[in-house]
This record gives sequence, structure tokens and C-alpha cells, in this order.
Amino acid sequence: MDNLRIPGPTPLPDEVLKTMSRQMINHRGPEFKELQDNVLADLKKLFQTKNDVFLLTGSGTGGLEAGVVNTMSPGDKVLSVSIGVFGDRFADIAKHFGADVTNLNFEWGKAADPDAVRKALQADPKIKTVLVTHNETSTGVTNDLKAISAVVQEFDKLLVVDAISSLGSIELPVDDWNIDVAITGSQKGWMVPPGLAMVSVNEKGWKAHAESKIPGFYWDFGKAKDYLAKGQTPWTPAVSVIYGLEVALKMMLKEGLPNIFARHARIAQSVRDGVKALGLSLFAEPSHASNTVTSVAGSGGLDTRKLVKLMREQEHVVLAGGQRTLDGKIFRVGHLGWVSDDDIKGLLSSLKKVLPQAGFTG
Ligand SMILES: *Cc1c(COP(=O)(O)O)cnc(C)c1O
Repeated sequence: MDNLRIPGPTPLPDEVLKTMSRQMINHRGPEFKELQDNVLADLKKLFQTKNDVFLLTGSGTGGLEAGVVNTMSPGDKVLSVSIGVFGDRFADIAKHFGADVTNLNFEWGKAADPDAVRKALQADPKIKTVLVTHNETSTGVTNDLKAISAVVQEFDKLLVVDAISSLGSIELPVDDWNIDVAITGSQKGWMVPPGLAMVSVNEKGWKAHAESKIPGFYWDFGKAKDYLAKGQTPWTPAVSVIYGLEVALKMMLKEGLPNIFARHARIAQSVRDGVKALGLSLFAEPSHASNTVTSVAGSGGLDTRKLVKLMREQEHVVLAGGQRTLDGKIFRVGHLGWVSDDDIKGLLSSLKKVLPQAGFTG
């Protein structure tokens, strides 16, 4: 079996695989109500929120679109804080629906500077909403979301966060950090397949929803809330993924949040230490290196595309390349969700074997 080391989808525990092969149920019946109520109660613990959480059937990007269409109106001023591909995508979605987006972009590989966010908000008092990526999967950088959120609070703006590859793996207390809308995706740190976006909405998020004039339909949080009161979702949900999520969440709660974060931190450190010991260079600035995905630079003659291919073909280790302008410049290792120290040992010994064949001379 392949060692799937991309930043989602991740491998799945046997317990999750098994439960997902269960027979279908009526998604408008009592069993589904019980299932969804259970899952949402557990999800709230992992989001560390007492506010509303919804299961939306779609990928993470659907969740980002939901975050936009439920909180904005055409012409609204929005500050996009972007440090990579996914931050840019969030800004593109807001633009697509007519928001007036100011881009605050940082060099790829670096984290966003909270002071620059403050300056941008000072410079334009009309900005209503701030979009931020917590963990930028394309560069392997985690933003200091706590500090950025504190700045957004100073100005009392709405904060909508792409936490797709951080929630459930990296500390993000949604209520304590005043995240108005937080969005994550099932195939990242949650040990379940793609198919669900999970979002939280607080009171400020609901206020924005009440004022929003973007004509959302499928993603409308209002419909999600109405149907949740009946134990349903507005549209047919990804029932099997929710079966899996119920079991995965129990596993996560059994491990405990502090232990989950510590495991991700420890494993990420062992990846960084391991690749450095092989003579490779990390792409992300060390102070903000992500605990869910590590980006490695194509230094020392390394052909990163060739490396990814050889690792897959010869070692059955599946890595991710770079996206957009980083294609051919970096490779990325996913280590989130269902990941163990042994997975990383295997990865590092395979890398050691394959590096010389991919042109690496150190
Ligand atoms: C994966 C990811 C996305 C996109 O999610 P999809 O499920 O592929 O739509 C967006 N943002 C971040 C930070 C991600 O890691």
C-alpha cells in the first residue's frame, strides 16, 4: 500500500473505513438526526466553540464560497490577507461575487505580518470583512491567527477564516480567538474522505448573514440552520462521510485535543529535522513552519518533479509538488490527520534512497 503523504486526502483508519461501508439510512429520518446531532456536538468540542456548526456537503472550496456568499454584499470592501495559493483563491471567490477586494499579499513562504494588517485596516475604514488563511497548504506556513484576529478585533471587523488544513490538527480555539466564520474540510485533518466542509458561525457571522445580499442558494447558512432544527440538512448530505466522521471524532476526542496538537507538532518537527539531516532546505520561514504540511526547497540540484515521480514509482510514497509558481521549485509532505512516527521514518528512508537519482548533490 502507498504511503500517502499529501496534504489531503489522507489515509483513513480501519475503523473509519469499516463504518463507511454501512447501509444507507433515510437522511430525513430519526437515525440521521441522531447521527448529525452526535457529530455536531463532538465537532463543537474540536472547534472549541459554543456557536453554530454546520456540515455542508462539498469540498473545502465550497465552504470558502459559503463563507463569502453568507457574509457579504456586492460592493462590500474586503481585505484579503494572502500568503499563497489558497489565500489567493479566497480573494478570487469574494471578487467573483462582486466584493471590492483589497489584496494584502505576502511573499510565498512567509507568514502575514499582523502590523501590516493593522495598517491596511487603518488606511481604509470602509473595509467590513477580513479573509485570512490560517494554514497555507501551498507553502507550508501557519499564520499567527491569534495576533491577526486581535488586530481585526481592534477595528471590529468580520473575520472569515480558511482553517481547512489546520482545524483539528493545529491549535485554533474558535471562540477564544473570535473567529466569526471558520471553515474546514473533511479530507484534511479529520481522518475522513473528501465530501464535507464544516463551518462555524458566531453571532457576528449571523449579523453579517442577515445583511448579506449575495444571492446564495445551496450554501445558505439560514437554510442550514432551519433544517438543523429538524435534524436534517437542506440537501442530501454525504451520508457515508458523516458515518466516518462520527467514528473519527470519537477517536480524536479519545486522544484529546492537546495530544492531537502535540502529535502533529512532534511529527512535523521530525519531518523538518529529517529533511535537514539529508542536506535539504526548508522552504517556509522556520518561525511559522506548518505542523500539517512541510514544504521543501529544490536546492542542491534537486529536480523536485522527478523526485515526486521516483518516490511514487519506486518507493510507493506519494508526495505533493509545488502549485502555480512553486511548481518544480518545492515538494510538499503532508502530515496531518492519520499520521504516525513510522510513516515519517518510512518517508525519510525512502527520500534518502531516491534523492541522488533526482539530481540532488547536497
Ligand atoms: C485543501 C485546501 C483548500 C481547498 O479545499 P478543497 O477541498 O480542495 O476544495 C483550501 N484551503 C486550504 C488551506 C486547503 O488546504
